[in-house]
Amino acid sequence: MFIIQYPLHSYGVYLVVGSLLSSNILKIVSLADLFAVMEKFIAYKTMLVIPISAVLITSTTYLLLGRIFCGWICPLDIYYSVGRSRKIVKRSASNAVKPESDYLGRVFFIISIAVFSTSLLVTSILAFPLFTNYAYVLNMLSIIMVRISRIIAFGNIVIERLDYVSAFMIVTLIIDVALATRFPRFWCRRLCPAGLIYGLLNKLSPLTIKINIDKCTKCGVCDLVCPTNIYITSRYIERKQQSLRDIDCIKCFKCIDDCPTKALTIAFTKP
Ligand code: SF4
Ligand code: SF4
Repeated sequence: MFIIQYPLHSYGVYLVVGSLLSSNILKIVSLADLFAVMEKFIAYKTMLVIPISAVLITSTTYLLLGRIFCGWICPLDIYYSVGRSRKIVKRSASNAVKPESDYLGRVFFIISIAVFSTSLLVTSILAFPLFTNYAYVLNMLSIIMVRISRIIAFGNIVIERLDYVSAFMIVTLIIDVALATRFPRFWCRRLCPAGLIYGLLNKLSPLTIKINIDKCTKCGVCDLVCPTNIYITSRYIERKQQSLRDIDCIKCFKCIDDCPTKALTIAFTKP
């Protein structure tokens, strides 16, 4: 939708205007990303002139559905999917990424919090929204989208300054893809501040994955297909958990799709 917006605008069709950070649908509904608004507030120390409903719609959605943005909306998911498609994973168990130990998981979580806090501190000191304007990988995708859109809309290639910011974002992405075999979705799970907020909302969201332990044969297929390297068998099933609430879960539901015994189902439960 964001890519085709410019060609559509030239025909007077305003299906969507904006980017993943803030947009307007059909010139009626405004949407604003929770983290982007928070960061801008911390940077400029003033309330932004945006409709309250724009933030309420997105925050209520993520409160109810948890980290669904990362699995269904974020275009970065395409990169990750190409690198570790379900077919490749299914072909051989040796493709499976080894689970992180609980200790390493805790260390990574502390790193996530540290990155999140430091970025907000720097944002406040510099009076500049760091992640949403510069270090946010999505921004690079937005830049690419806008450039493709312009080519489609105007038929000419407008070469713009590929400054150090774009270079930094491209390097970040390359590192992320390179790390994918050992630490899948490293940016997404460990560094992205927006992802951290959505992940924490998984703990409150009623949308969960229910585990029927009696039906489970511990075949491990769910571990293999999970794109965020959640070891469902060792972390949840062997610990006799009835439901899966994990800050890394992007609600892609591949585990549910592929479970041969239908031991996993979508459920709405109390937070
Ligand atoms: S795929 Fe289903 S049966 Fe296999 S371990 Fe996971 S929950 Fe159990
Ligand atoms: S636990 Fe299931 S729904 Fe969550 S990320 Fe892994 S495969 Fe997707």
